Amino acid sequence: MKTFHELGLEAEILNVLDEIKFVNPTPIQEQAIPFLLESNSNLIASAQTGTGKTAAFGLPIIQKIDSNINQIQALILSPTRELALQIAKDITVYSKYEKKLKTVTVYGGASIDTQIRELSRGAHIVVGTPGRVLDLIKRKRLIVGKLRFLVLDEADEMLNMGFKDELDAILAGTPDNKQNLLFSATMPPEMERIAKKYISDAHRISVAKQNIGASTVKHQYYIVQARDRYKAIKRLVDYNTDIYGIVFCRTRMETKEVADKLMADGYNADALHGDLSQAQRDYVMGRFRKKQIQLLVATDVAARGLDVDNLSHIINYNLPDDSEIYIHRSGRTGRAGKEGISISIMHLRENSKLRSIEKMVGKRFEKKEVPQGSEICERQLFHLINKMQNVDIEHERIAPFLPAIYKKLEHLSKEEIIQGFVSMEFNRFLDYYKNAQDLNVSGRPEKGKEPFQRNKGNLQRFYINLGTKDNVGVGDLLSLVSKNLRNREAKIGKVDLLKTFSFFEVDKKYTDKILSSFKGKEFNGREIFVQKAENNEPKRRNKRRSR
Ligand code: ADP
Ligand code: MG
Repeated sequence: MKTFHELGLEAEILNVLDEIKFVNPTPIQEQAIPFLLESNSNLIASAQTGTGKTAAFGLPIIQKIDSNINQIQALILSPTRELALQIAKDITVYSKYEKKLKTVTVYGGASIDTQIRELSRGAHIVVGTPGRVLDLIKRKRLIVGKLRFLVLDEADEMLNMGFKDELDAILAGTPDNKQNLLFSATMPPEMERIAKKYISDAHRISVAKQNIGASTVKHQYYIVQARDRYKAIKRLVDYNTDIYGIVFCRTRMETKEVADKLMADGYNADALHGDLSQAQRDYVMGRFRKKQIQLLVATDVAARGLDVDNLSHIINYNLPDDSEIYIHRSGRTGRAGKEGISISIMHLRENSKLRSIEKMVGKRFEKKEVPQGSEICERQLFHLINKMQNVDIEHERIAPFLPAIYKKLEHLSKEEIIQGFVSMEFNRFLDYYKNAQDLNVSGRPEKGKEPFQRNKGNLQRFYINLGTKDNVGVGDLLSLVSKNLRNREAKIGKVDLLKTFSFFEVDKKYTDKILSSFKGKEFNGREIFVQKAENNEPKRRNKRRSR
């Protein structure tokens, strides 16, 4: 393995790398850096997410830019604002000792005037999203006539997001003799066409699939009925008490659904998908980074390129159709020599998909059994006991209360006191998992056992005078109901969301609680009205006269 010094990097950069503890170059860096330092030819490079592509193009560009010339010399295009900010942040770090070098970031959803002012103060490197970059070029505020380097980062994602026209327009105004660099995690056929068009005679580097088998990721899978996916996730999360990870879903809809359910069930989760505003995305990501959120439920696109360390688990809510997507997902854990686990929830018919993913990863995946209710209870119990053993006791603050408490508990034995405290915390889990079924599917699917939700016998159906017209979604209703129930383990069944009213099902034994707790409550200034529904099916005919 080579050192950064051997790759030809100058002292100013080597010092930074030393400071930020980049000891050895990653494979893509080892190939791209010397090439870019020596050659002015185009480059097309692909390597999986998390392999250090930013430094692979960033370091040589920083070294080659002449910061005495006050011109934009490098333009780095990236599909999202988060990525643009992350790249700019990395470049600022790497160029710490290149005092004169200036980097400006431009992206939509923020004041263009501020960005124009920053550009007018001079920039050598501009990092931006295609839409805003094009806008600024058209206003003649971002001058690309003297570009020496153009980087398309996460180029495949830019294509997916439909930036093709913007890219065409941006590239049209740049000099022919600049060096074009394309960095991507995958190289789908459409990309090849783009590459041919803009990035002629390119040198190619691909380390996409090589270093995966050697990584520290454990791959595990669980086979359940499709309808039990959510329950299985819940159990895995309950079992892995310190989980910190991303749950990958296929669609925005599914992402929302899973996140809403997890939140309604009292988990520390949130969703990241394309329907969120920029501010919402920043907020969610910030909380996840700070570990205020334990589970981020995300689509592949929304999570692409975001760099979060120390994830304990990746959960594939579904096996992705494309093996490469699996590799990108699982590559987000097990970083920096730490161990990570990539979990897939799948059903029996997905066996061939599993085989092809295993082939690509180059490892057999381990089949695991979804923990039984009793195992989870045991795990939670010992988690609780460990927590108790390690808790910081604030002697001074509790001292005033202790005499009275000791007195009150005087007649109980040590065993009884322990039993009482354990039960208090723990009954929830015992209750929830009391009649929990085995979710594992071994050979053929079990017949006859319907999931709880379908068992109308246990559920009461309610009418509520809120619907899509009130901007209420299924998730909103679920959280409204569970908020009023004040009981995160109460079973909530099907929700039928209609325009002006909706139905939801809740465990029969909470009927009175529901009726009384909603009484007098308001939603957006309108009084909420809940009553028992007569029928078990939505009365769609009544829609019009319901209000
Ligand atoms: P990619 O663009 O390929 O997804 P990034 O450039 O975002 O990957 O890098 C992923 C992470 O690895 C970042 O936290 C980065 O600081 C770190 N990293 C990059 N190169 C090295 C290296 N040579 N040694 C240690 N860490 C590195
Ligand atoms: Mg990157």
